[in-house]
Amino acid sequence: MKILVTGGLGFIGSHTVVELQSKGFDVVVVDNLSNSSPEVLKGIENITGKQPFFENIDLRDKSAVQNLFKKYSDINSVIHFAASKAVGESVENPLLYYENNISTLVYLLQELQAKKEAHFIFSSSCTVYGQAETMPITEDAPVQLAMSPYGNTKQIGEEIISDVVKVTGIHSILLRYFNPIGAHPSAEIGELPIGVPQNLVPFITQTAMGLRKELSVFGNDYPTPDGTAIRDYIHVVDLAKAHVVAVQRLIGKNNLSKVETFNVGTGKGSSVLEMITAFEKVSGQKLPYRIVDRRGGDVMEAYANTAKANSVLGWNAESSLEEALASAWKWEQKIRNKA
Ligand code: NAD
Repeated sequence: MKILVTGGLGFIGSHTVVELQSKGFDVVVVDNLSNSSPEVLKGIENITGKQPFFENIDLRDKSAVQNLFKKYSDINSVIHFAASKAVGESVENPLLYYENNISTLVYLLQELQAKKEAHFIFSSSCTVYGQAETMPITEDAPVQLAMSPYGNTKQIGEEIISDVVKVTGIHSILLRYFNPIGAHPSAEIGELPIGVPQNLVPFITQTAMGLRKELSVFGNDYPTPDGTAIRDYIHVVDLAKAHVVAVQRLIGKNNLSKVETFNVGTGKGSSVLEMITAFEKVSGQKLPYRIVDRRGGDVMEAYANTAKANSVLGWNAESSLEEALASAWKWEQKIRNKA
């Protein structure tokens, strides 16, 4: 069974390709390398013994997308990761985000709607919940006004898919990720943030490596036990496995409705200070940090209720926070050639 993975050389995509190939799927990766490197193909091969088919295509090119589906006419399952994801950049350049995150989605769905039956897994985000009123967050918590064009593209994407499945043979699963961290335990693939990392864990590992002077902790006056913001950090390998389970669910016709939504998190919230302590423990490194003002757009806390993913999807996060942090640290050392 061939699966198309868009953005398959990126952080979450590459780990998903590994898990798909390990389960015997043939994978076609599409990536325009705008936020990834062709080296990732070697990493995937080193882990699984096999390279996926690779097409260097920009999905904003509608005719290229049409030709892709002509070339691989047997593809009717797509896992769609390709998107731009920097919140700040989306505020600076909203049209870049609306074009890259929406037009690519539309062109893919246009190809799939020509098929009798098709399966579509969409990368959504817990940002759709904004600051949810109750913790842990269930899937039926209200979607809040998006705080950035990036967040809006995820909400619009969910709405487009919900409209399209009603009138086509497309079945879809929307996965709302919490905070993916870590790397493959082999350190063959991992996260490659370009420029100053926007996310906590790459900032921690780069600081521990001496690439950054200190970690800025954005606010210690939140109404949380230690005053710092709380997130649900999930090992990227666990997140990748959720995609395999989701696509198998659609292929096996086990879905209960044409569009289903699942939170993908661990169900456990960790504060920034807890993350620092956990990292220091697994790495044996002291982490210099400084408390600074809150960062605009950050919510106080967000962690998932995973009951639906556990019981309906049949998926559980298996790795501990320490394992995830250890894998991130191993990867950071590897890419800085110190491992
Ligand atoms: P990433 O940037 O590492 O991967 C995205 C990949 O898509 C990159 O390899 C990039 O080169 C490719 N790409 C982008 N635009 C493309 C285009 N027009 N045509 C072809 N390829 C294109 O990002 P990631 O962290 O792996 O995220 C994957 C998905 O998950 C994204 O949709 C993102 O919005 C979503 N998501 C990520 C997070 C997170 O914290 N990483 C959280 C929630 C949701």
